Amino acid sequence: LSQENQSILSAYKWLTKLYNHLLRYTKDGKEGYQYFKDRGISDESIEAFQLGFSPRVKDFTAEFLEKKGFHQQLLIKAGLLSLQDDQVTDRFMGKIIFPIRNHLGKTIAFGGRNISNQDGPKYLNSSESDLFQKGKLFYNFDLAKRHIRREGEAVLFEGYMDVISAYQAGVKNVIATLGTSLTQYQAKLLKRYVDTVILCYDADNAGMEATYKASILLREAGCTVKVAKLQENQDPDSFIQAHGAEAFKNEVIQASDTFINFYMRYLKKEYNMSLEGDRIHYIEEVLKQIAMISSSVEREYYLKELSNEYDLSLNSLKDDIQKNRQKGI
Ligand code: ATP
Ligand code: MN
Ligand code: MN
Ligand code: MN
Repeated sequence: LSQENQSILSAYKWLTKLYNHLLRYTKDGKEGYQYFKDRGISDESIEAFQLGFSPRVKDFTAEFLEKKGFHQQLLIKAGLLSLQDDQVTDRFMGKIIFPIRNHLGKTIAFGGRNISNQDGPKYLNSSESDLFQKGKLFYNFDLAKRHIRREGEAVLFEGYMDVISAYQAGVKNVIATLGTSLTQYQAKLLKRYVDTVILCYDADNAGMEATYKASILLREAGCTVKVAKLQENQDPDSFIQAHGAEAFKNEVIQASDTFINFYMRYLKKEYNMSLEGDRIHYIEEVLKQIAMISSSVEREYYLKELSNEYDLSLNSLKDDIQKNRQKGI
């Protein structure tokens, strides 16, 4: 690690401690603490995830770090301060802080969230640097890793709050991407640790699109994909807050769909199934995905389903599958 990157890690370490302390024990951080309490986050979780608050005091962070001997230039590079029209501002002022840790547990960036009607987007990350590339890591991977290995499954969410709520509810093999879609890099990284990935994205259109894209990448990386069942317009965090830990485990995670079943539902939304052309397309697309399944029993199972639903001969479907599989090899 370069001298400079070591300094950046050190700045993040100081700030993580400071923001967490302010949140828990001071007047300046009280609104952050209250916010987490209102969302059902326990003190234990605040500690485990080192959650914090950057106070609404101008130049607070910059002055704190400069007193510790960090240079302004470095803090800009670290993504902590922003430079706008020659003005240096604290990127996270007035936001609750989610420290983003690398696989070794070291904080390399912050996620911040507005908790009042401030300008700007709801969520904001540190800017990218050679230490922090959001397409190359997962939120909470360091804590989740051993649970992922033990369960043989990883549960992938969209957001920080989803991870924290699930972890607090006792589902600990949980990780999230960092505000972007899953990358091929992340899919390959995950495959090194686990075979099965349960996608648990928000139950809205964006979430369904993202689920489709992520599952294609994960399957290409060799993972088995399942898709968790959430009601319309829920996200994992809101479900847990509304229905509790047990319901989340049993009705959302355990009740996950296989990828093919999800894919059939997804395509039926995309296509106009009353048109013959669309129906044929649909069947061809589903067949391509069935062809990628390595278990012949499982392939046969889905082929039978298709052949029943669309009144097609099993043999013609099998022919098609053979062609698709040969193309794939
Ligand atoms: P909350 O529950 O805190 O209100 P949310 O569930 O509405 O948030 P979404 O809009 O669903 O949040 O976004 C999903 C996740 O993506 C967020 O939790 C956050 O981690 C991340 N995210 C969203 N927008 C951004 C952004 N502009 N920059 C970085 N991360 C983002
Ligand atoms: Mn959403
Ligand atoms: Mn959400
Ligand atoms: Mn949410």
